[in-house]
Amino acid sequence: MDWEEIQEIWDCTKEEWNDWQWQLANRITTVEELATSFDLSAAQLSEIEEAIDIFPMSITPYYASMIDFNSDSCPIHLQAIPQKAELEECNYEMDDPLHEEDDSPVPGLTHRYPDRVLLMVTNQCSMFCRHCTRKRKVGDGNSQVDFAQIEAGIEYIKDNPQVRDVLLSGGDPLLMDLEMLKKVIAKLKEISHLDIVRLGSRVPVVLPQKIDDQLIDLLQDYSPLWINTHFNHPRELTAESKEALHKLAEAGFPLGNQTVLLRNVNDCPTIMKELMHQLVENRVRPYYLYQCDLSRGIEHFRTTIAKGIEIMESLFGHTSGLAIPRYVVDAPEGGGKIPVTPNYLISSAQDKQVLRNYEGEIVTYIEPTIEDDQCPCHCDICSGDESEGEVGVQKLLSDQNNKLSL
Ligand SMILES: *Cc1c(COP(=O)(O)O)cnc(C)c1O
Ligand code: SF4
Repeated sequence: MDWEEIQEIWDCTKEEWNDWQWQLANRITTVEELATSFDLSAAQLSEIEEAIDIFPMSITPYYASMIDFNSDSCPIHLQAIPQKAELEECNYEMDDPLHEEDDSPVPGLTHRYPDRVLLMVTNQCSMFCRHCTRKRKVGDGNSQVDFAQIEAGIEYIKDNPQVRDVLLSGGDPLLMDLEMLKKVIAKLKEISHLDIVRLGSRVPVVLPQKIDDQLIDLLQDYSPLWINTHFNHPRELTAESKEALHKLAEAGFPLGNQTVLLRNVNDCPTIMKELMHQLVENRVRPYYLYQCDLSRGIEHFRTTIAKGIEIMESLFGHTSGLAIPRYVVDAPEGGGKIPVTPNYLISSAQDKQVLRNYEGEIVTYIEPTIEDDQCPCHCDICSGDESEGEVGVQKLLSDQNNKLSL
């Protein structure tokens, strides 16, 4: 949409358009607002109305201006505009597929892995993504996160010295009141056993105007802070979002990206490769490519794991390693992220491995002869008794463990 069209719909000045508060205040949340701005049929509107009843809608004018209403398959449209398909029930779709609440020692904190936790700091988002795995919570007035809850989470981290990494999540942490966000990060930074503080935000994609000097100044006081964003399609990398990424990168924040594999949006090797290239060009390292969860209301976005593997096959070897995310299936029932890749190891013998490369060439790797497989003896990183914390197959492989099965 060009500037003239934008003005015709929103009747705003350039200053207003570039002001994140104006963008937030003018979010499209009702069918009436949608109908006055865009040319949609009565049938489409009633479908949207039905879906909004269950899962609310919120679209920033900025993101809405990228929608191509003349196309049924616009990737921006699919991520922003509700569809009737969201209401289709499937008996295996769960409200909390990742058991984020079951693995939660205090409300809003998920402790699934030994050394890191996920801390929900808000349930507010500027845009409600139609594919959101936390649809049941985002924007819901009844699941607001208050400061006392966040403080309880921070106390939990303080009391658990094995936690060395905290991931601020939501909702969108960058949509929090800035003073509150500052307090949270400051408190976390005081915890001496915490090595990493990171946050996930879709603001660079759906409200890039929010990445302003005020926000940068505030965050910069707490550097290093790892920031992961959420681009799903190359069309989301607009001049505005590139500018937001540039500001964050210049300020020194390491940037990563988490993409969700979505049917009809990005389930194609060409689109995915283009997205990954554009991210790297803008100093964002692709981190994860997620298989779609079994959440309620997103069945129409799911594609097969086979499709995900096909996409990974088209990336490994074919493009820069820097542009390759890890493809993961977040296991239902709180199993955590499981990496999935095409198979490159074809067969093994005692003294050699047979592998294939991305071109299908088959090669052998001759294994070295090792008589005495010990750990390096003069190392002072571990006390020599690290077997206690061993979990899973790691435990079966360990020299210090005689377990035969899990
Ligand atoms: C994804 C996730 C993390 C972080 O996992 P990484 O693989 O380290 O990025 C931590 N806790 C929960 C519950 C998560 O879902
Ligand atoms: S930004 Fe994230 S939490 Fe917010 S609606 Fe989108 S997917 Fe959900």
